[in-house]
This record gives sequence, C-alpha cells and structure tokens, in this order.
Amino acid sequence: MPAVAQGAGANKTTGAGAIETYKPIPGFDTSSMDPAADPCNDFYKFACGKFAANHPIPPDQSGANQFYALYNVNTQSLRGILEKAAAGGAGRSAEEQKIGDYYKSCMDTDLIEKKGLEPIAPLMKEIDGLGSGMRSKLGLPPVIGQLQRAGVNVFFGFGEQQDYKDASKQIAYASQGGLGLPEKDYYLRTGAKDEEIRKQYVAHVAKMLTLSGTPEEQAQKDAESILQFETALAKGSLGVVDLRDPDKTYHLEPIATFEAKLPGVNFAEFESAVHSPKVTEINDSTPGYFPALVMAVRDADMETLKAYMKYHLLTSTASRLPKRIDEENFDFYGRKLNGQPEQRARWKRCSAAVDGAMGEALGKVYVQQYFAGDSKAKMLEMVSDIEHAMDLDIDHLDWMSETTKVRAKEKLHAVANKIGYPEKWRDYSSLEVKPDDALGNTLRANAFENDRQLNKIGQPVDRGEWLMTPPEVNAYYDPSMNNINFPAGILQPAFYDKSQDDAVNYGHIGAVIGHELTHGFDDEGKKFDGKGNLADWWTPEDTKKFEQRTDCVAEEYGGFTAVDDVKVNGKLTLGENTADNGGLLLAYMANLDRAKKEGEDLRAKKDGYTAPQRFYIAYAQNYCENERPESIRTQVLQDPHSPGHFRANGAIVNQPGFAEAFGCKKGAPMVPVNSCRVW
Ligand SMILES: [Zn+2]
Repeated sequence: MPAVAQGAGANKTTGAGAIETYKPIPGFDTSSMDPAADPCNDFYKFACGKFAANHPIPPDQSGANQFYALYNVNTQSLRGILEKAAAGGAGRSAEEQKIGDYYKSCMDTDLIEKKGLEPIAPLMKEIDGLGSGMRSKLGLPPVIGQLQRAGVNVFFGFGEQQDYKDASKQIAYASQGGLGLPEKDYYLRTGAKDEEIRKQYVAHVAKMLTLSGTPEEQAQKDAESILQFETALAKGSLGVVDLRDPDKTYHLEPIATFEAKLPGVNFAEFESAVHSPKVTEINDSTPGYFPALVMAVRDADMETLKAYMKYHLLTSTASRLPKRIDEENFDFYGRKLNGQPEQRARWKRCSAAVDGAMGEALGKVYVQQYFAGDSKAKMLEMVSDIEHAMDLDIDHLDWMSETTKVRAKEKLHAVANKIGYPEKWRDYSSLEVKPDDALGNTLRANAFENDRQLNKIGQPVDRGEWLMTPPEVNAYYDPSMNNINFPAGILQPAFYDKSQDDAVNYGHIGAVIGHELTHGFDDEGKKFDGKGNLADWWTPEDTKKFEQRTDCVAEEYGGFTAVDDVKVNGKLTLGENTADNGGLLLAYMANLDRAKKEGEDLRAKKDGYTAPQRFYIAYAQNYCENERPESIRTQVLQDPHSPGHFRANGAIVNQPGFAEAFGCKKGAPMVPVNSCRVW
C-alpha cells in the first residue's frame, strides 16, 4: 500500500524534527518465528517466539503487538492529514478547518500551560456553588447533568441504547458508573497488590486536588473520603462477568418507577441539564446500584461529594490541562496501572483525540487517501465464504437439534456486514472548533457527542451507523443490530495483506471475520435472535448442551496463568474465546473450500510451509505480543479478551485440522486428548 510512504512524506514537510517512521508488519512474518521450537509442543513459541526480541516495547507503549504496530502506522497517516489541515490556508474545507484547528489547539502546549485551570473554572464554580449544608445535596442533579454532558464520569451512567427486546426502538438507560479505578473489584479485593493500588489511587487523587489548589492536608482527607464513597458505589455495582449478561442488565420500566428509587432527587432537572429529551421509560440496567448510590450520597458529607466531582473533572480533562496535572494523571493510569514509563508523543495523543472527537470527519479524509478500496471485494468474498462455512458447520453439529438449527440459520442469514467506512458521513457542522481553545474544543466535542446520542432516544434506528471510526484497528459484532463491522483501519498488513496468498489472509483477517460472526452465537450473542431482539430461540435441551460445551472453554482458559498468581478469568473471557475458537474453525473451512474452488495445491510450499501451515501460523501471528506485566494484570482483571499468547494456543488446541497440518501426534501438548468444541 502507498499509505506509509504518503504518511511519512507528509510528516517530513512539517519540519517537526526527527520523525519516527512506522512500518507495517508483513502478513507472513518469518522474522517473528522460532523454527527451532516444536509446533506440536508450543505453537505460539513456534509462530511468535522471536517477536518479543524483535519488538522491544517502546517507552511510550504498554506493550508491543500486531494491533499496536498497525495503530502506529495509521496514527502516522492521521498525523500527516492533521498537520496539513492545521497549517491553515484559505483552501480548507469546513471539516478540514475543524479537524485541523482541533489538532492545532491540542498540540499548543504553551498556550495550554498559560491558560492553566481557567478553562475548567466555570464547571469548578458550579461545583463550589452547591454550598455545604445538607439541603445543598438537592442541588446535585443539574450539576451532575452538566458534568456528564461535558464527558465527566460521575455518580452513574446515563445514555441511549437499542431496546434489547425490541431492536427497532431506541431508549434511555441508566447504569452504574462514577468509579475512578477500573472496576468494582479493585475496591473490594484483598491482597497486597490491590491494597497497594488503592493506596496509590488515594495518593494520586490527593495530588490532583492539591495541584488544582486544595491545601495539601485537606486534599489528603478528601482523597480518603473519595475512596470510601467510591467503595460504597462499587459495592452496589455489578462485576465484570455479570455486566456481560444481557438478562442481568435489562429492566425496562416507566420513568416513575425508576424515579421512585431516587427519593429526594429531581430527575427532570438532571435530564434537562444533560440535554436529554423527556423520557417516559428507561432501562435501569443495574437495579441494585441506584439504592446503593442514594445511600452513599446520603452518608457522605457535601465536602466529599464536591471533592469527588472536582477530582473526576480534573482526571477527565487532564490531557488538555497544564503538564503538572497531565503528568500526574498519566503517572497513575499509565505508569502505575499499565507499567508504561512515558506518555505517548503529543502528536499521537492529539491525533487520537481528533479521531475520538470527530472520527468521521478525519476518517473521511483518511479513507480517501489510504483506503485503496481494492480490499473491499476480497473482504466481501471472504465474508461470504465464512458465512457459508458456518452454514455447513451448523448442518454438521451433532449436539444441536433440527429445531434450533433452523433458528440458528435464520439468525446467520440475517447478519448484515459493513466494510471500511460509513455510507453516510456524520455531520459536524454544529460543532464549534477554535484553534486556540484545546479544552473548550474537548468539552464542546463531548457535549456534541452526548447530544447526538441522547437525541436518538425515541427515534428510529439508523442501521448504517458505525460504533468505530474508519482508522481504528479493530472490528466488532453488534447483537442488537446483528451485524459485523470491519473498519478500513484493520484491512491492512498484517491483518489483510494483498501481497500474500489466501491461506495467510484467511488465517489473519478471515479468522477475525469468523470471530465477529461467532459472537452472534457465543454465550451472550445466543440470547439475541436474527432481528437483534433478546429472545430465547433455543430448546432448553440445546441450551444445556451449549452450556456444557462453553463450560469446557471456560475451564480451559481459566487454567492459564497470566502474570504472577493472576489467572485468566474463564467466565469473563468466555465470549471472546468462543468467538476465537469458532472463528478459526470457520476461517479454516472457508480457506479449504476456496482453495478447492481455485484448484490450489494445498501441499505446495511457500516460504517453506504448506497452505494449511501458513494459515495456522498467520492466525497465531495475529496475537504475537510483548506486554508489560502491569498491563497484563490490568487487562486480565477487567478485559473480556485473553492475553495474545492464550488466544493463539488456546484456540489452536481445539482445532481438528491442526494436527494434520503439522503432523502432530494425538496427546502432544497442542493436540490434547480432551479438547473443547462449541461451534
Ligand atoms: Zn470479540
């Protein structure tokens, strides 16, 4: 692809000094392999054994892996686009003005330093204006609404979602939220490491408050009370495993029923401040939470609540505040929680910020310059091959009844797919962006996005909407939409490499397509039907058999030790692991079928490997990684994805085609006698 050369060229014209040039990793990367390792013994070592040595972790990253490698390439491309747009000139389109000025203001650290805390002063004033008597708590709802609209995560979550039970409707939801640590168990788990993190968190909160002008002693006291307050919220919250269960997070009720759980709270004042339309019904997605929140607010004194809001305002705006605050915020969330020694370069952070704020304005230019579009036809072919493979796979499942098979196929045939970028681009014309107002731009962009989301309530569903931006190196399945989505950003090497053969591309992006498709049929996806409604289409007997099979997967991955004494959470990662296993199987079937259609000789070797061997090597190489232990710990405790090493080996041990491809004997570590199989 010409992408890299163009990106690098654009960088050079800016005279920004030494420019790092990121290059994509090729689809079939022999330099990462360790051919001396026995593929039947540890396939990850065989396919990725030299990756870590060849890819030391840069100080500004929490790890090095395939996704990060391509992210850097894409961010470099975005930088070229943004620096050109930021340079100004009369020829800029309205959108180029917005993305350029947003980037320019974000890069202008001198001005950010000079402005100090002045840009958040109005919100700070709102918080201080609440007073300190007991009655002052009555004034909270409008202030919470204003803060949430500005993107500050306080007290609870509120937003828009598709109605789980009627996917044609868009409704409001309220949920748990407002924690500063990654998730509830960080507040409740005992053990030296968790206590250390909580201690570091309190010190960090105190430092942030001090840096914003609170006297040191008071800040320390406030930080301790904030931990106590957030611990009460954590106790009322669902854990990461329960949050994956749509049955546990769907309780649609009239607004009056919801309001009755919030005695003394004027919810209408919150709605108005957050710019929500008046809602008549709401999904109380975490019903245990709101009574706990009401109690926690009642028990806390007003000074604690004000300090709590101030801290969250500071942490969520830190990257557009003076360096002392930005650095302190990074020190806790980047250095302590992820082991990353240094912040990412400013240009990377600002490119990502524009992508987050106006991803479809930036994405439009990105797609024009960097998405050749020739991958789209091949992607469509692969998607169709893989859907066909799933059709055959369902036919041959020995554990599923005919009744459920018919319904499964109905769902499969209803899956829509989106590739590259949206057909209709989002309109940002009402968003005001100024070249000298970094924080103001961020707050206005947050309000713009908040309003865009809330305005969907009560409106018909837009099936063309994307939940990711075009440059993202990622893909997703959406159960309410029943669609699979592949942004342009991931359709490049190593994931899709047009210079490579089918075996390699089916192993890389093919397995990703299969993964997203299988999400429609994992432990969460199986609960939604082809129309995207939460509706049980399974016979009870088939659900029982499905659960026996998923228990096998949960047990397998739950046995992996990720770091120190922390094991992979088999239940939290079940959906992702089921998707990896099914996706890999489907991609393999599709690849064999495609080879047959094209009369390809599967035994012919390229780079010394047959097509099936290249397929499995490419799959494992999706997950080559070199990660910092802190980052693995943080991932394993809350992220539904298993670490890369286990994503590679954990799925391969269950593949019926693997042993033959590498001539492994049954009973070898990579070909266990008891393997798991769902799809
Ligand atoms: Zn997934």
